[in-house]
Amino acid sequence: VNKNQLFWEKILGWFNTYSRSYPWREADDVYYVFVAEFLLQQTHVRKVEPVYHTITTRYATIEDLAIADSEEMKSYISPIGLKYRADRMISAATTIVHRYNGEVPNTYKELISLSGIGDYIANAVLCYGYGQNTVPIDTNVIRLFVRYFGLTSASSRPRTDKKLAQSIRHLFFVELNFRTVNLAVLDFAGIVCTASKPRCTECPLAGSCCKYQETLTQM
Ligand code: SF4
Repeated sequence: VNKNQLFWEKILGWFNTYSRSYPWREADDVYYVFVAEFLLQQTHVRKVEPVYHTITTRYATIEDLAIADSEEMKSYISPIGLKYRADRMISAATTIVHRYNGEVPNTYKELISLSGIGDYIANAVLCYGYGQNTVPIDTNVIRLFVRYFGLTSASSRPRTDKKLAQSIRHLFFVELNFRTVNLAVLDFAGIVCTASKPRCTECPLAGSCCKYQETLTQM
């Protein structure tokens, strides 16, 4: 078994037992994925749940969101910060209603042209909302792949390093269920391979992890 296969086997095994459950993961409407991904941006996932409930209850459809009052929306988002997201969400929703007949677009090009939607959210909507084989990459995902596979970046901001992102994407095989593996990576990076104090001694990947093996040789 090569390092890459082992990575997926172990991470999916871990995910079978420890996957987290969130309302947007059960949602069957891409609108809910759209709302969740805006709210999850740079925000701790646990804090997002109550705000997600408020917004999806108050604005049950993208048409409702498109005509939302900016100040009211900001008051809902306020507890999790980055209130400017309110105007961006309303603006994106308005474009979707007017230009796309209320259907959240299903192409990267169209999504990325919407207000407040960058590379991560576009890929997340395509994967979680439309079942496409995309890989949303944020700092957590980068951290896990850099540590385990020993990938490096020449950029001072690996988050924007396109070559690194491409190397990460190459490690996803077409046979994988992208939705499941992206969620597994997300949860694993948030629970086990955390930014500070990763739980290496309990980590199922430790035996083949570049960073951990390097640490052992330095001891
Ligand atoms: S061994 Fe440590 S650094 Fe490597 S993947 Fe596991 S938690 Fe992360």
